[in-house]
Amino acid sequence: DSVFNHLVRAPEDPILGVTVAYNKDPSPVKLNLGVGAYRTEEGKPLVLNVVRRVEQQLINDVSRNKEYIPIVGLADFNKLSAKLIFGADSPAIQDNRVTTVQCLSGTGSLRVGGEFLAKHYHQRTIYLPTPTWGNHPKVFNLAGLSVKTYRYYAPATRGLDFQGLLEDLGSAPSGSIVLLHACAHNPTGVDPTLEQWEQIRQLIRSKALLPFFDSAYQGFASGSLDADAQPVRLFVADGGELLVAQSYAKNLGLYGERVGALSIVCKSADVASRVESQLKLVIRPMYSSPPIHGASIVAAILKDRNLFNDWTIELKAMADRIISMRQELFDALCSRGTPGDWSHIIKQIGMFTFTGLNAEQVSFMTKEFHIYMTSDGRISMAGLSSKTVPLLADAIHAAVT
Ligand code: PLP
Repeated sequence: DSVFNHLVRAPEDPILGVTVAYNKDPSPVKLNLGVGAYRTEEGKPLVLNVVRRVEQQLINDVSRNKEYIPIVGLADFNKLSAKLIFGADSPAIQDNRVTTVQCLSGTGSLRVGGEFLAKHYHQRTIYLPTPTWGNHPKVFNLAGLSVKTYRYYAPATRGLDFQGLLEDLGSAPSGSIVLLHACAHNPTGVDPTLEQWEQIRQLIRSKALLPFFDSAYQGFASGSLDADAQPVRLFVADGGELLVAQSYAKNLGLYGERVGALSIVCKSADVASRVESQLKLVIRPMYSSPPIHGASIVAAILKDRNLFNDWTIELKAMADRIISMRQELFDALCSRGTPGDWSHIIKQIGMFTFTGLNAEQVSFMTKEFHIYMTSDGRISMAGLSSKTVPLLADAIHAAVT
């Protein structure tokens, strides 16, 4: 008899489980809009040309080896990642007030940041927006923080509940940690305007809340790396402290390489270096040191002006394709006379559209049209193509009429 006999079967991850169900469907017209990964117009995963070229160079360079890299990762990668999110002329970087450690993509960066705060920060409560990426509460709970929520999305307008957000953060205990999606909020695609960000910043600073930015989509929202970093830079500019988790999964298509970074902006260089020394104590017993390959690719691209330019062009093309899918889907619903206001499809930002379809309508679309998405009605625009838009529009039309 197994010592694990008492185990019950755990449910599939609500997001990854969509793909499991999709894979089991034998229909030739099936469509997976659940996965948060970019697909080409042909529905294929994409490896960026700039990544292929750099990988070739890395393979041909016989001076490279596979030794362990430091606990905090590659120095070049860390320095250049901070520059990418904070800007080349960031005062925090110039003052050496930033510590950056290479982590296992966005998730690992959030987890290391969470464990560091649980261990060393006086307020162990983190506020998450409702809704948020499904993994956030689990990551921060297991890191040792207690999770609370603040209002974010207004179903009635399919936009931002700005008043609710200000009220909830306004009544959070002083010092609380606040998780903010830097851009392209997942799952809603709803972002504050820059004016609203400025009001959020003033509230957060006046209440001495600690901002923790999750930047999983820099460059993917608007097509511009700088534009998508504006909210983070607004907070850095006031001289206050904050954390940022960066991921290169989406903007460089390095999903499976697990490459990302955690940066902590501090008040002084001395504090930053003590913070880094403690981050090492979080990381060492967790996974010892991060993987070398993905970070080497990123560092090579960030270091070289030509490679960097080539990247921005490919990144913009991905963002533009997603934006054009929004327009095509919106137009297709208009031309079918589908009841309801669908303008949120073109207003929302980033990889996802929060359609407003309910769980029942989603399961109808899966059963009748073989279209797969999360039960909250979130669809990945990156999984759509001009060829599949009519099918999705037919399915939505049938689901709401
Ligand atoms: N944060 C948000 C909001 C995300 O949407 C994702 C990915 O879907 C992540 C973090 C983490 O992704 P990764 O760990 O692959 O970088």
